[in-house]
Parts: sequence; structure tokens; C-alpha cells
Amino acid sequence: MNIDSEVLVIGAGISGLATAFRLARRGIGVAVIDAAPRPGGVIGSERRDGVLYERGPNSTLDTGPFINEMLGELGILGERIDASAISSRRFIVRGGRLIALPTSPPAFLGTPLFSLGAKLRLVREPFIARAPANSEESVAQFVVRRLGREFLDYAIEPFVAGVYAGDAARLSLPAAFPRLNALEQRYGSLIKGQVLGARERAKRAERSRNVAASFSFREGMQTLTDALARAVGRVETERRATGVRRLSDGAIAVTVEHAGATTARRARAVVLAVPADRAAELVREFAADAARALDAIPYAAVASVASAYRRSDVEHPLDGFGVLVPKVEKRRILGSLFSSSMFDGRAPRDTVLLTTFVGGDRDPHLPSRPAEEVAAIAREELGALLGARGAPLFCAVTHWPRAIPQYVLGHLDRIRRAEQAQAALPGLFLCASYRGGISVGDCMRSGCQTADVVADFLGARSRDRD
Ligand SMILES: Cc1cc2nc3c(=O)[nH]c(=O)nc-3n(C[C@H](O)[C@H](O)[C@H](O)COP(=O)(O)OP(=O)(O)OC[C@H]3O[C@@H](n4cnc5c(N)ncnc54)[C@H](O)[C@@H]3O)c2cc1C
Repeated sequence: MNIDSEVLVIGAGISGLATAFRLARRGIGVAVIDAAPRPGGVIGSERRDGVLYERGPNSTLDTGPFINEMLGELGILGERIDASAISSRRFIVRGGRLIALPTSPPAFLGTPLFSLGAKLRLVREPFIARAPANSEESVAQFVVRRLGREFLDYAIEPFVAGVYAGDAARLSLPAAFPRLNALEQRYGSLIKGQVLGARERAKRAERSRNVAASFSFREGMQTLTDALARAVGRVETERRATGVRRLSDGAIAVTVEHAGATTARRARAVVLAVPADRAAELVREFAADAARALDAIPYAAVASVASAYRRSDVEHPLDGFGVLVPKVEKRRILGSLFSSSMFDGRAPRDTVLLTTFVGGDRDPHLPSRPAEEVAAIAREELGALLGARGAPLFCAVTHWPRAIPQYVLGHLDRIRRAEQAQAALPGLFLCASYRGGISVGDCMRSGCQTADVVADFLGARSRDRD
């Protein structure tokens, strides 16, 4: 069989690059193509006037040893920087004021973030019966049932908007927060589960997401995807896959458009590391129902606004990770990261960098408004919440019309149907943020797992041929 590479990965975001890197480490010939002019997908770090800002993710969580292992293999462990100690403080807006989220039981008892009624409601949590196994609740239903409405409004809903830019009433608990679901199923209570689960994680050398360190790199998140692309070697940009089909000898042909020409690339295995709607286009011909399921995965639109201010023009000390804005506060931003407080070296001494997110499920049309309008909203809100005065030194708006896949009710069933595309075309694999978690760390983990499955498939194929 005449093949161009053992494996062809379509999509050079973190999912595709992590898959390709792991395959290459296992000695498997792999090439990556991407439609965009540079690898990295939504990860992109920029420098302007001495300020380092991110267009996409600002940091990710160190949830397991596999992360440092990969950074070590890439030779960029020394570039990793962890969020400053002050970043353990996170603010929530209540009544237009920033209030620090309590991180200890005494702080919880004293915080003005929750009413006395909401605090007392928490005492009942260990006695609330678990939901029937295999039931699917929304995140909001689950939280209201176990912890009460106020806890949803002022803790979980803003957190969900901060992570998914999503709506807690639409997101599926087992799909979006499988660990919370498992905690209830296993221990019958979140509070009991937190205590007992911590012991088990310690044994596995894993960290809970609420204590795992947030990290980035000295030169920003793009350090990671640039290093992966360099290590993989064969990453070709401005090449759009437009079709995938099985050849009579069992290989897979991918139609690729590049500079106005169309060519075919043959591989023994193909990984689709592209967003769900793109994957749908590529599998529709041989797996129509899988394509319908992929098309049905909604994405939230987000605009990220990086604003640099003179330190003296912002009243708030910015002594934390950032601020999340609950929906019930009826403001126009989802939240803002205090990027220059999180990581050293993001801005000159007399300058601060704020990264503000607008849109999401709360305001889906806002991110497509002109950049000046989005910038003006961010400026107004930062003025009201943080006391940011006057015009920022600069403001960079990035529109993400399809930023983050939403694991809404029915998501796990949609994924099962989407996976039928893999059965319909042996040698085809799906790996992207609509499956296995949306964070950068989750995508790294999914990429490694996919690479192992692909390697097993190739191993079995070559044994069959022998
Ligand atoms: C604004 C924003 C902020 C975020 N903040 C955080 C954060 O703080 N922490 C965190 O952990 N996560 C964050 N995330 C989530 C995380 O960054 C993403 O889930 C993850 O990077 C997605 O990676 P991916 O490789 O699956 O997809 P993508 O990055 O979307 O990559 C897919 C690639 O496929 C390519 N492609 C598409 N179609 C084709 C085709 N037909 N042929 C060839 N190539 C194609 C695209 O050009 C793209 O490069 C954020 C995301 C966004 C958008």
C-alpha cells in the first residue's frame, strides 16, 4: 500500500498536536495538517507594548503527572510558570461589589457572599439522597437539589460561565462535571466525597481541580503548542481537509485543499482533531447519524478582550485570579482575569493587564458585534466593577464565534452516536474538546489516550498482515 504517513492528524490545536506528539514518541510516523496559517488552534499568545496577552486560554490546571511528563519530554518544563500565590483568591460580584470566594470553613461562615439561610442549607447536604444512577440532571438542578438556589447563583453558575461560557440550566452534570456526578454516586454527598476523595487522589498522585495549580509559560500558552509542533516536525498549515474515505486496501484517503489545489493524502489511520461541526462535514458521507449528532453539539460564542491599563488608573488592588460575574447580577461581562496579577512578567511594572470575556450563553450575539462596541462594554464594566478610569493603553478584542463546546443535556448520547463514525470507518478516530473535557489539560490527556488507541489499532492491523 502506498501511504503518505502511517497516521494523518487533521487539526493542529492542542488535541491534535498532543495526539501526534505521543504517536511520534511511540515511533509511529505521523503528519498533521491544519486549515489555519499557524498551529495552536484557539491557543495564541501575543506581545504588544511590553504586554503579553492571550487571545484564547490564559492558563490551565495541573491535574496529573502526565502534564509535567509531557512538558519534560518537550524540554519546556523550565518555561512553565505557576500562578502567583495571590491567585488563590477569586472574586464574585454580589450587589455590584467584589467579594472574595471563601476558601476555608471559617471564611465561609463569615463571608457576606452567602446569606445565613444559604449557609445553614449546606448543613443538610450530607443527608440529601443521591439521584438514581444513570439519571441525567442539569448542573443547575443538581446544585439546587444538593446545595440550594443561592449556592447556584453565587458560586456554581458564575463558575460554569467562567469555564464553559455556558448555562448551568442546560449543561449536563454527568457530561460536563463527571467528577461531581461520581462524587454523589459514590459517597452519597459532596461534602463527604471531598474529604474521602482527597485521600484516594493523594494515592493516585492526582489533584482535585479546586486545589490543582494553574499554570502557563513565561512566553504564554502558545509555548506549549509551538513546542509540540516543533517536536512533531511534520505540521503543515493552510491545508483544509474536505473529505475522508476508505480505500479498497483498508487505508484512508483524505482530500486536502491547499493554495487552490486539491490533493489526496493516504494514511493507515486518521485522527479528526477538529471542532464538532467540521468533523460532521468529514464523516457525513459514510456515517450520516454520527454527523447529525456532531452537528447537534452547540458551541458558545465568546469575545475575549485584553485591556492594558496604567496601574494608577485602576482602583481595585487586583489581588487575585480574577472576578466572575453571576447572571443574576445582570451585567454585560462573564468575568475578567487579573492576568498581570496571575503571572509575573505579563506587563511592565506600572501597567496592569485584564482579560475580560463577554458573550457565552447569556449573551450569544454580543461577541459578533464590532470590536469597538465589545471593547466599550468591557471598558464600562471594568470601570463600574474595578474602578478602571479612562481609556486603556490598548485593548485587543478576539472574536470566537464557536469558542467552547457545550456539554448540554443529552451530550453523552450524542457522543455515543458520533463514535459510530469510528465503527463505520475503521482507522478513523475522533479527538477534540467536545469529548473528554474542554480544558487544555483535558485535551492533552485525550490526545495521549487517542494516540494509545491508534497505536493499538495499527499494531493489530500489522499483526493481521503478518
Ligand atoms: C476564549 C477561550 C478561552 C479559554 N480559556 C481556557 C482556559 O483558561 N483554560 C483552559 O484550560 N481552557 C480554556 N479554553 C478551552 C481550550 O482552550 C480549548 O478547549 C482547547 O484549546 C481546544 O483545543 P482543540 O485542539 O480541541 O480545538 P481547536 O483549538 O479549536 O483546534 C482545532 C483545529 O482544527 C483546525 N481545523 C478545523 N477544520 C479543519 C479542516 N477541515 N482541516 C484542517 N484543519 C481544520 C482549526 O484550524 C484548528 O486549528 C478556552 C477556549 C477559548 C476559546
